[in-house]
Amino acid sequence: MTQHVPSTTTTLSDQLKRHTISFRIGDGRFSAWVCLLLGVLSLMGVLIFNYPEFLTTPELREAYNIPALRAGLGALMISCGGFGAFALLRGKLMPTIIGLAGLAIASIMGGADTTLGTIEASGFYIGLDWFVIGLLVVGSAFVLLERLAPVNEDQPTLRREWVLDMKYFFIMHLAMGGFLVASNAILTATVGWARFEAVTNFVSALPLPLQFILILLSIDLVEYTIHRLYHQGGFLWRVHAVHHSSEQMDWLASSRLHFVEALVTRTATLAPVFLLGFDPVIVGIYAAFVSFHATFLHANFRVDLSWIEPIFVTPRHHHWHHANQVEAYNKNYAVHFSFIDRMFGTLYLPDGWPESYGVDEVDQPAHGFRAQLAHPFQKANEIN
Ligand SMILES: [Zn+2]
Ligand SMILES: [Zn+2]
Repeated sequence: MTQHVPSTTTTLSDQLKRHTISFRIGDGRFSAWVCLLLGVLSLMGVLIFNYPEFLTTPELREAYNIPALRAGLGALMISCGGFGAFALLRGKLMPTIIGLAGLAIASIMGGADTTLGTIEASGFYIGLDWFVIGLLVVGSAFVLLERLAPVNEDQPTLRREWVLDMKYFFIMHLAMGGFLVASNAILTATVGWARFEAVTNFVSALPLPLQFILILLSIDLVEYTIHRLYHQGGFLWRVHAVHHSSEQMDWLASSRLHFVEALVTRTATLAPVFLLGFDPVIVGIYAAFVSFHATFLHANFRVDLSWIEPIFVTPRHHHWHHANQVEAYNKNYAVHFSFIDRMFGTLYLPDGWPESYGVDEVDQPAHGFRAQLAHPFQKANEIN
């Protein structure tokens, strides 16, 4: 009987199927993946320049400095070429070729000098610009922090199921505008009658720092309530179990949300903003803060914030919320203020970090994107 000897060379699809990739300094594999990432982002950047009407988020357009963005796109493309050349010299054909193909198409389309398209009407759009910003700014910052001070040192950046979570990250960013439109329509139709001018005028005239505290507090009280409901079992738990199914915590794990949860939670947490009528500046600051904070809470980043833990939710609170340890089940529902959990008796914060994350096998959604979307709609006996 001959023994099967596994091949020492792995293809891109082998690596993606295994969902974990480790790097050794200088072997070119890291450069190959960075080349792929930068090549795809360069192509997306050029497409965004050409079709801003369909590929940019209206709320972000006014803040854009076009010459600075062109310079950034140029730097991205040059870096892609540099990483690609190094990876090729090291013999890493895949995924370098895909990255360089993206770079070539972006170059043919004009590169950093590409035509800036016009915006004639603000109709249907997808937030491709929001995805590129998220990946380049938030993603790279957190990858760096997670390398510098990881909670779990053995967890690679491209850890198990990172492809699955990247799909969530991509779709959630692209669909952000769609969720906002849907949430606003739902709120107008259901609680539009409860929006009183006397209240919105009063709130929007309050000092801005006070409005910021009020927006955090009102949203977190709604978040606490709805999050606790998700944990009561039944259909809502099956929806939320998708988020809890991550067995490794990092910045990307925050994106794993079932569409039903994304819509329901966002609509509910937007209700105080809709009803109280905060100053648009505060709403903008909150939107930026919450997209950073949600990522921060899930990050594989060992940070000592014990001095603010009695008041604010820190990564340790939320890591314990995701712990697959009986003593930590159904604890730490708040996302901004930890005193809300203390008030309602659901705070759990022992020393250190959890041993394991995820959900019990019985609640475990399948490990694929479409299977996870279907998970809440399956009867308990059909699962697994
Ligand atoms: Zn939860
Ligand atoms: Zn979470």
